[in-house]
Amino acid sequence: MSNQRKWKCCSCDGISIEADLLEAINPFDETMKITGCPLCKDVVGFTEICDEPECVRDASCGFPTPDGYRRTCGDHMRAAEQMRAADGAKLSPIERDWSGEVEDKAWAYLQKPPRR
Ligand SMILES: [Zn+2]
Ligand SMILES: [Zn+2]
Repeated sequence: MSNQRKWKCCSCDGISIEADLLEAINPFDETMKITGCPLCKDVVGFTEICDEPECVRDASCGFPTPDGYRRTCGDHMRAAEQMRAADGAKLSPIERDWSGEVEDKAWAYLQKPPRR
């Protein structure tokens, strides 16, 4: 997978990819794990960063894509949505034809069920 989740350390503001984060059992509760920054070794916490390779903004959006779940900033969510729209031909007919017509038909059916 090309998009790696990235995290920004709340202590040193350094950005690390998820695979590089340090993990250990919490000595106070062995059922829990603590995550540490590989750069400053602090464990204060992390902010998730947009998964676009060059982007360092906070990941404020999450959405599923054919390549997996994405976490991005607002700008990259819109960019991904536009790519998806341009890719419309690859989507299944139901997704592509999501104009509301299907809903209208379903609604009409509920209002006037055919007689048996
Ligand atoms: Zn750090
Ligand atoms: Zn971004």
